[in-house]
Amino acid sequence: GFKCGIVGLPNVGKSTLFNALTKTAAAQAANYPFCTIEPNTGEVAVPDPRLDKIAEFAGSANIVPTRITFVDIAGLVRGASKGEGLGNQFLANIREVDAVVHVLRCFEDGDVTHVDGRIDPVTDAETVETELMLADLESLERRIVALRKKAQVGDKEAKAVLPVMEGALALLQDGKPARLLDVAKDDEAAFKALNLLTSKPVLYVCNVDEESAGTGNALSAKVEEMAASQGAAAVVISAAIEAEIAQLSADEQAEFLETIGLEEPGLDRLIRAGYDLLHLITFFTAGPKEARAWTVYRGAKAPQAAGVIHSDFERGFIRAQTIAFDDFVACGGEQGAKTAGKARDEGKEYVTQDGDVMLFKFNT
Ligand code: GDP
Repeated sequence: GFKCGIVGLPNVGKSTLFNALTKTAAAQAANYPFCTIEPNTGEVAVPDPRLDKIAEFAGSANIVPTRITFVDIAGLVRGASKGEGLGNQFLANIREVDAVVHVLRCFEDGDVTHVDGRIDPVTDAETVETELMLADLESLERRIVALRKKAQVGDKEAKAVLPVMEGALALLQDGKPARLLDVAKDDEAAFKALNLLTSKPVLYVCNVDEESAGTGNALSAKVEEMAASQGAAAVVISAAIEAEIAQLSADEQAEFLETIGLEEPGLDRLIRAGYDLLHLITFFTAGPKEARAWTVYRGAKAPQAAGVIHSDFERGFIRAQTIAFDDFVACGGEQGAKTAGKARDEGKEYVTQDGDVMLFKFNT
């Protein structure tokens, strides 16, 4: 599955957010650094109103949303790259995720200690990013010596990887994250294999006070400005409010959201932003038994999509009956779409589109 790691300085609201996300009490929120010691992992459903529509037209007994995983990663502090705090563990955990959700404290609260004694989310972001860059720098400097030697004696693989590594190293030495490297299409795999902390896509979460949940505040505006300048995304959320919402029943939620002037829980926006950040799309399968959403990388071909369901489907792939979501709905379901000629037979080279309703034909 796809994993997002929640990171940030201590006391910015990571555990609160994670708890709200996963509705578990497992990751305990507490007002002191290092409360979250083990990485806590939770799966969340990706909210998608299209799935309910599909289930309605297909008369499905069950609805199964697609899911992504969030990992609450233990508190990072200044000096983590040198092993301070939970440094090494933090870095190991972050290596395993596909994307980083970076929580920034944008709320004032005299009762909650800030590790540096002041509320300044942009500087906080720099503190965390600096630790990640230092860790990457050290890791590359260590690895590149051997690689240069290998390349010198003509090792093909080393020669292929070296330019990417040199490029990333130069950037980091210049104080910039590896994600800013201009990577050629052919080098993408090699770059990914370096598994650098600062090469992962970042989503900033501005954790604002309850009053600013709908609007954001001056601090979150600064973060949004910073994110825009980096080509990164930012979402405004009040973790405290989300934690409250998560405990309500569906009816109570709707009422509560209305009173505070929100259209949907901030978590829904966050989950969808995480999904976009990972360049993921959704396709559907629909029948009387269940309507189900599945996740693939944007650009995945039909057999790869089939493989998400079962490896046999990919191996024996013949073709995929494909109906675009809009056609599926406009025609009142599969039969109607077939009659209207909107059910396409797609082959091995078909690139799966977001919202496709698919039925795979395969050899066993
Ligand atoms: P972590 O160390 O980043 O995981 O932070 P926690 O989630 O444990 O939160 C630290 C403290 O800040 C706790 O006492 C939370 O109740 C409090 N907190 C978290 N989010 C908010 C918020 O949006 N507003 C206020 N006022 N307090 C918050």
